[in-house]
Amino acid sequence: NIGSRIELADGNKMPQEGLGVYRMTDEDELIKSVKSAYSDGYRLFDTAQMYGNEAAVGKAIKDLDVPRDDVFITTKIAEDNQGYDKVMSSFEESLKKLQLDYVDMLMVHWPIHTHFFETWRAFEALKEQGLVKSIATSNYGMLHLQYLATKANEMPVVNQLEVHPYLSQKAMIDFDRENHIVTQAWAPLGRGKIFDDPVIVKIAKEHGKSAAQVILRWHFQRGDAFIPKSVHPERIRQNADIYDFELSTDEMKQVDGLNRNTRISQEPEMVY
Ligand code: NAD
Repeated sequence: NIGSRIELADGNKMPQEGLGVYRMTDEDELIKSVKSAYSDGYRLFDTAQMYGNEAAVGKAIKDLDVPRDDVFITTKIAEDNQGYDKVMSSFEESLKKLQLDYVDMLMVHWPIHTHFFETWRAFEALKEQGLVKSIATSNYGMLHLQYLATKANEMPVVNQLEVHPYLSQKAMIDFDRENHIVTQAWAPLGRGKIFDDPVIVKIAKEHGKSAAQVILRWHFQRGDAFIPKSVHPERIRQNADIYDFELSTDEMKQVDGLNRNTRISQEPEMVY
């Protein structure tokens, strides 16, 4: 079910599904969404410095009033805050906003060649200090990870990537897996632009599920982690209600076949 966790290479356990909070700028709306998700069984909440809503996430978690290890909080260091000292100082700010003593996972939001290793050194230091339980990357391609491996003491345990049926990222996910890195899909629903795809619509009809549920189930059966976003309680619930049906091997193949390598984001290898 939605509470199930997967073991990471560092021994920590991360919920496979979580709630993304990108573009939730209204504090009340965010707090309501987090509460509603929590009551549906979500335990992972994915924010970032760049989203400008860490303080609202902090309030929401505080309001939940649950044991700290019951929830899994991820944040990400913004591009402007890369470099050893800036990671350290901006992370301290993030912790304050989140009203937490530690975060479960810290990600480098985008690979940037300036400060590439320095940034990672700061991540390793924060982990050593116990302020971050797991260190991770986002939008890293193969070259970034290979380059990082030349100097890192510890490799990221998660790489958060744009993944959905129109960008299935098979080669990249295989690469992550070979390197003991769990791929976590961002925009797992392709931001809603795949719901009308005839293949998805047909499969959804056959199972009596929504298009969103079929897509999330595909992620689940592939073994990826995923963090759909919604602010509507009924959709938040729907996105968690994907554990009572199964896509056949043939249906999985049909969804795999939709890949067209189209991105919402820029090409990570081109980012400086
Ligand atoms: P998404 O694929 O999760 O799509 C979200 C949109 O789909 C919603 O705004 C809503 O319009 C629609 N939707 C959701 N559930 C639905 C349902 N059941 N029925 C109908 N419509 C539904 O896209 P996203 O928000 O971009 O990605 C999810 C999360 O990934 C973000 O919130 C953020 O936490 C993370 N993210 C990370 C990066 C990165 O660079 N690391 C980039 C973008 C997003």
